[in-house]
Amino acid sequence: MAFEGLAERLQGTLTKIRGKGKVSETDVKEMMREVRLALLEADVNFKVVKQFIASVKEKALGQEVMKSLTPGQQVIKVVNEELTALMGGEQSKIAVAAKSPTVVMMVGLQGAGKTTTTAKLANHLRKKHNRQPLLVAADIYRPAAIKQLETLGKQLNMPVFSLGDQVSPVEIAKQAIEKAKEDHHDYVLIDTAGRLHIDETLMDELKQVKEIAKPDEILLVVDAMTGQDAVNVAESFNEQLDVTGVVLTKLDGDTRGGAAISVKAVTNTPIKFAGMGEKIDQLEPFHPDRMASRILGMGDVLSLIEKAQTSVDEEKARELEKKMRTMDFTFDDFLEQLDQVRSMGPLDELLNMMPGMNKKGMKDLKVDDKQIGKVEAIVRSMTKKEKQDPSIMNASRRRRIAKGSGTTIQDVNRLLKQFEDMKKMMKQMAGMTSGKGKKKGKG
Ligand code: GDP
Repeated sequence: MAFEGLAERLQGTLTKIRGKGKVSETDVKEMMREVRLALLEADVNFKVVKQFIASVKEKALGQEVMKSLTPGQQVIKVVNEELTALMGGEQSKIAVAAKSPTVVMMVGLQGAGKTTTTAKLANHLRKKHNRQPLLVAADIYRPAAIKQLETLGKQLNMPVFSLGDQVSPVEIAKQAIEKAKEDHHDYVLIDTAGRLHIDETLMDELKQVKEIAKPDEILLVVDAMTGQDAVNVAESFNEQLDVTGVVLTKLDGDTRGGAAISVKAVTNTPIKFAGMGEKIDQLEPFHPDRMASRILGMGDVLSLIEKAQTSVDEEKARELEKKMRTMDFTFDDFLEQLDQVRSMGPLDELLNMMPGMNKKGMKDLKVDDKQIGKVEAIVRSMTKKEKQDPSIMNASRRRRIAKGSGTTIQDVNRLLKQFEDMKKMMKQMAGMTSGKGKKKGKG
């Protein structure tokens, strides 16, 4: 998970000040010293750190904070706000041209994830914005890049424009845009040529493509795991090409977070998307405020809700909720619920977005997928009748289920017991929330 080290250190530091009813100047200075170290250790650009500390200090020591009733919390609020501002403040969205198609040029060094991101972005545009993008394979230098984009296009069932690797990228871009107009595509995503290093030839070629394609957006793809190198790459590309946005890939594997925090401040170019994994749907719009909350352990409840909204069937969810309030909840419902939660993504990832879940101590709380698999196997070995009414479960049924699911009778017993307990608890909770619980006999 991104920002592990930084989140842990910052949360440790902030916890000390959170509950304080009185905060002295020394407290703030002491805290900022620790925050500074934490940021430097996370590989945040040192100039950025310096500015950040200065502005937090100034605001935190201001009258409103120090005189407030909850100065400790106010200081944390300042840190949160400044961190958000540092990463760009408002969310920065992908361009939409006044006249279709919107042309997006994807640029970046080899291995940064440019080709993968081009496909991910196409998928995002179609899924979230109902767009019809045309993918363009213009990376004629990296062996297999064209093939890779074609394969991804096939997987997405989306057209890919290519002219092989013997035609110049400028020509490919030109023809692709014409083709997009003809076929009424509203986005053209050009996967341009990358190189291992920044050099003149690369930049010259990209400039030529830019001149012909007149892109509405130039997205620079950089690898978050390379830390300050990513920031330096961004600076160079930006000088030459006037990049309009950055996509930070491999944030899932970046435990430090330095690039995410420094890119905007150093290059004045907003991060528009973040790659959170190798899969095609693991690209997320970058929300500076949510990212800051995640780093500070305040959770990212909004992203979690959005995920739930897009992947959970609302009607089904309501039905399940109703069942949970009554005692009708069965093992069939349980399986359905498990599927719904699974469709939202890996459980670890979901837990990370919850407030408090990223805190020290909690981070070792790994969701054991194997354990869940075991539970699922047990439930799937039950007959329809057993799923609906577990009370019929005698010893021989339990033995059969254990055998069928490759578990032990103890496992089956435990699950049945847990299920009963859970139902009881749900009933109690339903009683509390609806106010219709068992009332103590009045007279
Ligand atoms: P290109 O040379 O810039 O076109 O790079 P590719 O698109 O081929 O990506 C290089 C490698 O990075 C591939 O193995 C991708 O699967 C991987 N990759 C790309 N984006 C992400 C990401 O967000 N997270 C992770 N974990 N891997 C990624």
